[in-house]
Amino acid sequence: MRLDRFLSNFAEFNRLDARLLLAAGRIRVDGHSVSDGRFEIREFNRVELDERVLQPGKPARYFMLYKPSGHVSATEHPEHPTVLDLLNEPDKHELHLGGRLDLTTTGLLLITNDGHWSRRLTLPGSKQPKVYYVETEQPIEAEYIETFAQGLYFAFEDLTTLPAQLEILDTRAARLTLHEGRYHQVKRMFGHFRNRVVRLHRESVGPLQLDPHMQPGDYRSLTAEEVACF
Ligand code: URA
Repeated sequence: MRLDRFLSNFAEFNRLDARLLLAAGRIRVDGHSVSDGRFEIREFNRVELDERVLQPGKPARYFMLYKPSGHVSATEHPEHPTVLDLLNEPDKHELHLGGRLDLTTTGLLLITNDGHWSRRLTLPGSKQPKVYYVETEQPIEAEYIETFAQGLYFAFEDLTTLPAQLEILDTRAARLTLHEGRYHQVKRMFGHFRNRVVRLHRESVGPLQLDPHMQPGDYRSLTAEEVACF
């Protein structure tokens, strides 16, 4: 919400009062004087008028989780434990997932209460590279590299996948970098060659790597530098 609107929502200030308070430099947001009424205020901002706190500002929370197989990427599920069940945090209902992994997929999952931040991760236009380690039932052939780089047509969505980079590591193991996140995308890409994915693990999202010190089911807060990656 705009700062001028935020102020005039208080019964004691009309729009003119709000403008005068701003012009006088009496409004501080996160400790800095702000005079532009167009400034966007979020629930995470601390807003003060002189010494009075108008909004204390909620802490923004950001976590990386090493998703284990068998936990579903949802906040509630009738059958399976969810990834949120792995977090020992207050007010878990305020948290949501910055992307999803299939039930049996393991690896890096991001969890937050900051919707703007998670949107930057997940919007189709964001094109954050996501790196997956993949193991398959059948040998991975060299021709996959060119096919994945060209893009594959997904009839259900009527789209062609963005160029993806495949690095073959072993007969049945590879590293695949995607720049989007379509439903079951990795499995469907290998499915094009009738090659079933038997293990799938996400190593990184954008510049953020799964912490090598973490075990499946572990989670930790992101550092300020990690949050600033997106
Ligand atoms: N692609 C898949 O098929 N599954 C995942 O969990 C992630 C990407």
